[in-house]
Amino acid sequence: MKVTDHLKNAKGKTLFSIEILPPLKGQSIKSIFEGIDPLMEFKPSFIDVTYHREEYLYKKKPDGSLLKKSIKKRPGTVGICAALMNKYQVDTVPHIICGGFSKEETENALIDLNFLGIENVLALRGDSIKNEASFIPEPDGNFYATDLVNQIAKMNRGEYLEHELENAVHTNFCIGVAGYPEKHFEAPNLKSDLKFLKEKVDSGAEYIVTQMFFDNKKFFQFVEKCKEAGINVPIIPGIKPITARKQTTVLPRIFHIDLPEELQDAIDHCKEDKLVKEIGIEWAIAQSQELLKAGVPCLHFYTMGTSEVTRRIASKVY
Ligand code: FAD
Repeated sequence: MKVTDHLKNAKGKTLFSIEILPPLKGQSIKSIFEGIDPLMEFKPSFIDVTYHREEYLYKKKPDGSLLKKSIKKRPGTVGICAALMNKYQVDTVPHIICGGFSKEETENALIDLNFLGIENVLALRGDSIKNEASFIPEPDGNFYATDLVNQIAKMNRGEYLEHELENAVHTNFCIGVAGYPEKHFEAPNLKSDLKFLKEKVDSGAEYIVTQMFFDNKKFFQFVEKCKEAGINVPIIPGIKPITARKQTTVLPRIFHIDLPEELQDAIDHCKEDKLVKEIGIEWAIAQSQELLKAGVPCLHFYTMGTSEVTRRIASKVY
């Protein structure tokens, strides 16, 4: 079922959903099942599976020239989606990105997803890879998430890259996109970011999932500003519980978000990570309860390998 149908059928009740990462290459899918098993009692409406782009390593050869080696640390997004659907009869949302893909490759990936009966996708641009100063698309690839949304929306209308295909199947993907309550780090300001978010929605995106945030005020203001900008699709808040002290510097650096002073002060007073985790759980529970009270359509948890923490939060909130 489509994410938007889950939201409609909920009739105002706040749904529960999670995001997981594929395991590192060489690891078994068992770790994924072990993480999801304890969360199934909360009946996630859908499970997102992130996509991780290939990276390149340059190794010096004996003659001094460089050997370009491609490495993919977390393969398996589509396989995991299919396995989860098969094992738990749950809807899955594979993330698909522009980076590293030609439009042709994207089209073929979408055909695979359609054949597997996957009805949802989260369409993203992806980040630049390590040796790029800014994002560079493939020469014949999509540049912005809007371009990817447009490509998927066209396939939903039966329009493929090869125009001469006759009676081409109309795919039926429900398209989600990313939103940033604290703005995307490349955007000059929130107004500009919202202009492009609206473009994604006008191109066919049917719902938005936000970047993690730790101050609900920022989410509520974002929702208001989206409304003012004419964005009227459901906005699903993304929740990430802090589980270790080092995340207080890593998360702001990687995800370009702020931590409220009150949360940082509470963490600073902790003598060990065990206590930091408790603070993180309490904070996420309070955040979730307030969001639930405000009637958000769904709480989307970034489990990042810590499903036990998500289970503890969900058991207090639902
Ligand atoms: P876009 O919407 O394309 O926006 C990127 C930037 O360009 C923004 O600053 C925007 O304001 C600007 N912009 C947009 N359109 C235009 C235009 N026409 N002209 C000029 N500027 C424009 N990354 C992964 O690699 N894999 C994942 O699985 C993944 N999952 C994610 C899930 C969520 C919920 C979120 C919030 C992010 C996720 N990301 C993932 C990270 C994401 O790929 C990065 O944040 C990326 O830098 C931006 O992606 P986007 O889809 O928001 O890009």
